[in-house]
Amino acid sequence: MPNPKRRHSNTRRDKRRTHYKATAPTVVNCSNCGASVLWHRVCGACGFYRKRQVTDASIRLERKRRNQDNEVDVNSIDNTVDE
Ligand SMILES: [Zn+2]
Repeated sequence: MPNPKRRHSNTRRDKRRTHYKATAPTVVNCSNCGASVLWHRVCGACGFYRKRQVTDASIRLERKRRNQDNEVDVNSIDNTVDE
C-alpha cells in the first residue's frame, strides 16, 4: 500500500481547506402563490411546480399537522425508575 512520505504542515492543510465553503441555498418565489421555495422544488404551500399542480397541498398540510400532534413532549417523559 502506498503511504505518504511526509506529514503535511498545518498551513498546507489549511490552504487546501480554504476551498471548503458553505453556499447559501437558492430561494425563489412560487409562481402560483408567491411563497419562498427552494429552487427546483415543489412549492410546499400550494403544491405547484412549473405552473402545474403536481401534489395535493392539503394532504401535505394534513400530514404535517398530524405529525405535530404525535410529537412527544420531552418534559412529560417520566425518567424515574420504579423499584
Ligand atoms: Zn406556491
